[in-house]
Amino acid sequence: MSHFFLYIFYKIFYITRNFLFHFSKAHDIMMINCILLFSQWEEISGLDENYTPIRTYQVCQVMEPNQNNWLRTNWIEKGDAQRIFVELKFTLRDCNSLPGVVGSCKETFNLYYQETDVEVGRNIRESQYVKIDTIAADESFTQGDLGERKMKLNTEVRIIGPLSRRGFYLAFQDVGACIALVSVKVYYKKCWSIIENLATFPDTVTGSEFSSLVEVEGTCVNDAEEEADNSPKMHCSAEGEWLVPIGKCICKAGFHQKGDACEPCGRGFYKSSSQDLQCSRCPAHSYNDREGSWRCDCEDGYYRALSDPPSVACTRPPSAPQNLLYNINHTTVSLEWTPPADTGGRNDVMYRIICRRCTWEPEECFPCGSNVGYSPQQSGLTDTYVTITDLLAHANYTFEVEAVNGVSDLSRTQRLFAAVSIATSQAAPSQVSEVIKERVQQHSIQLSWQEPEQPNGVITEYEIKYYEKDQKNRIYSTVKSKSTSATVNNLKPSTAYIFQIRAFTAAGYGTFGPRVEVTTKEESTGSGEQIISFCSLCRHCGYSKADQEGDEELYFQFKFPGTKTYIDPETYEDPNRAVHQFAKELDASCIKIERVIGAGEFGEVCSGRLKLPGKRDVSVAIKTLKVGYTEKQRRDFLCEASIMGQFDHPNVVHLEGVVTRGKPVMIVIEYMENGSLDAFLRKHDGQFTVIQLVGMLRGIAAGMRYLSDMGYVHRDLAARNILVNSNLVCKVSDFGLSRVIDDDPEAVYTTTGGKIPVRWTAMEAIQYRKFTSASDVWSYGILMWEVMSYGERPYWDMSNQDVIKAIEEGYRLPAPMDCPPGLHQLMLDCWQKDRADRPKFDQIVGILDKMIRNPNTLKTPMGTFSILLQEYYNTPDFNSFRLVSEWLEAIKMERYVDSFTAAGYSSLESVARMTIEDVMSLGISLVGHQKKIMSSIQTMRAQMLHLHGTGVQV
Ligand code: AMP
Repeated sequence: MSHFFLYIFYKIFYITRNFLFHFSKAHDIMMINCILLFSQWEEISGLDENYTPIRTYQVCQVMEPNQNNWLRTNWIEKGDAQRIFVELKFTLRDCNSLPGVVGSCKETFNLYYQETDVEVGRNIRESQYVKIDTIAADESFTQGDLGERKMKLNTEVRIIGPLSRRGFYLAFQDVGACIALVSVKVYYKKCWSIIENLATFPDTVTGSEFSSLVEVEGTCVNDAEEEADNSPKMHCSAEGEWLVPIGKCICKAGFHQKGDACEPCGRGFYKSSSQDLQCSRCPAHSYNDREGSWRCDCEDGYYRALSDPPSVACTRPPSAPQNLLYNINHTTVSLEWTPPADTGGRNDVMYRIICRRCTWEPEECFPCGSNVGYSPQQSGLTDTYVTITDLLAHANYTFEVEAVNGVSDLSRTQRLFAAVSIATSQAAPSQVSEVIKERVQQHSIQLSWQEPEQPNGVITEYEIKYYEKDQKNRIYSTVKSKSTSATVNNLKPSTAYIFQIRAFTAAGYGTFGPRVEVTTKEESTGSGEQIISFCSLCRHCGYSKADQEGDEELYFQFKFPGTKTYIDPETYEDPNRAVHQFAKELDASCIKIERVIGAGEFGEVCSGRLKLPGKRDVSVAIKTLKVGYTEKQRRDFLCEASIMGQFDHPNVVHLEGVVTRGKPVMIVIEYMENGSLDAFLRKHDGQFTVIQLVGMLRGIAAGMRYLSDMGYVHRDLAARNILVNSNLVCKVSDFGLSRVIDDDPEAVYTTTGGKIPVRWTAMEAIQYRKFTSASDVWSYGILMWEVMSYGERPYWDMSNQDVIKAIEEGYRLPAPMDCPPGLHQLMLDCWQKDRADRPKFDQIVGILDKMIRNPNTLKTPMGTFSILLQEYYNTPDFNSFRLVSEWLEAIKMERYVDSFTAAGYSSLESVARMTIEDVMSLGISLVGHQKKIMSSIQTMRAQMLHLHGTGVQV
């Protein structure tokens, strides 16, 4: 620390009697008078040791006793000073050297001061002075008299303070010495202005005490700021030295320290924070062209996320994800992809899924909305896969997978994404959630409910599961109902029961709806309540609780009633009875005809709406019987309803009912927005993916499987007799007796008699009218060919005769353009000469399901696909197993028998209900094993669905 003094000094001048008072740094000099009080003091001229002329004050009354001579300065304003230094220079004569002065001669003098706020003139009494010290000479001189030039000069410094008034006087008292006062220097000390740690500390006067330090706050130099919680301070000591620096200033962002100043960072450099010491060069893909920058700007097309520090390179959005693959399982779609080729220079790439549902006519896409589920989530995906659930059945979806990173939202460039269009297939109905307690008795409870939001097909049955709420082991019972209400009997009085309901369609069971608690009435003492069985389907199925708490995990051990058989309406003597046996008579007031959509054989076909009490309002097609019909025409017209009314399957056109007790006579059918399949395909030539086409074929095959299971032979299966709804669901239609085929413009008379649609018909049917489900399979093969060729006419413009000839000679239609070889192989199988060699419809459904689940098989070369078909045909018949262990053995997964047993999967029915999560929860962690087990479970489910006419819904 530098040591500075500010001198305030008096000098006793040689020429004048005035004291000079001046600051060494400034130029302001103060003239101060010296006043001689009762004084023997004299102002005398002399020379100092350098022979410079000076003036001194002298006194030398050594010969006289009782001297008391006062010399006083004028008033000295002290300014900021609190501690004043007084330096005296004087000579003093040795009494011994003066002859004859013994007794009275003194060798000291006294120094006094007096503080006042203003000048007080001469009016200070001696007693008012405060004595500073008695001053003695270090060296007194002996030679010569006072006039002699060689004098020994004494220097004495005394300190006064702390001073509290505005100014003071100094006074010198001589009590009989021989003194010459040469100079009086009065000064105080201060710490000089300094820059330390980039903070300026101003000139600071020292404290009042020797030991006191004056704390001084520093001010940061230009472009510097105080360090947080560390403001700069220094301490000015009594000696004028800066001591103990604390805290500091640092150069602001954009500036760096050079010496005691902050200088701006140069071009192409930046300093983002005051904390950084140095300016740094701009990071990659950024620049700046001004000085003093705290950051660099990104080059065009590059960005910095809000959370990116200025020190990182500028980055850009990633490119699109690659290799997007999908897998459809009913209404669940799994997507998988690989990361984008260019991450944009960042490592925070995530993915988001944009789901749109598209309509067919016209093609418009809308966001999927919040009913769709995403696992693990829709956006912010870090893994490269997602599962999308709760999609609508038979709907067309587009999924875009977009890779995003921290700067994607900043970029205005086009979004890059990978996309797929997918058509979902059949799904189980959604939950039954609105349950109403209709009637509560002691022993019975009547419930009613609304149809599920998304039936996804025709609901053929509801299952009501119930149990006593407080029963420990929760034995469940189930009751089934074909309508939206049911009465549950044989209940205990005053007992709380929990009810859950689920719907059943051809796709299987939906999940159970929420639990509904109902308590039966108290037992009355009167006559007992009459218990009536509620319907022929009532069934109580006891089963015990599995290990898990969640009762959704319980398995049911029930069998379904056998499949219904088709009854030929011709067998009824009174065809009217047949109609009323199979078709519901509708009240004409429930039907609203809106417009004519076509002309049928018996009259106009219209579209309209049907609103049945307690049901949703639905779109319908209304076939009318033209006025003036004959009785035979009426019978033939209603025959179609008698047949259609026996069917209940999502891929068979559904009959809502008939109006026979009014005019016009009407057949009301579910409305199929896209009309017949052949025209629809021709209109949308080349617009569908193979998977979508296969999805349509799968639906038709499922409808045909149902019909063949019922013993119904269609005889006229062709694309023109398939109807398509707005969700692209295909349904088999055009039912009638053999003579109805007569109405088919494709049907021609053959030598065997009757009209036959030659191009669609198997040889045995043409030759000797052997119409069977196997001949329907042949027709299905032709229909497949129509679908894959977008409605091309089979055998083009060949004549019917030539077609028959060619077929007999072994010619078969070639694969349509872009048709996967596996599908053509399936067609060829359907066209096997020997009908026993043709696949059954349930096998066709299974094969198409496999293709849909593994779209890669559609790309498989023929050879491999034949093996696949072979494999399918040879799939173990799950109904030949009775034990879970047998099944596991058959699929070489016997190592997991214990895991299945421990988790309570004791029956194949319970296994068939398992989901992939269930399989994983058994501790089966190898993906290959999970896949193998799940694939087998799916086949098992398909077989069960077919063979029992029921299914297990997962
Ligand atoms: P059809 O009585 O089957 O000969 O049908 C006559 C016309 O009505 C054809 O153009 C069919 O496409 C149409 N059509 C028949 N049934 C339906 C239906 N359920 N939904 C929509 N259009 C239908």
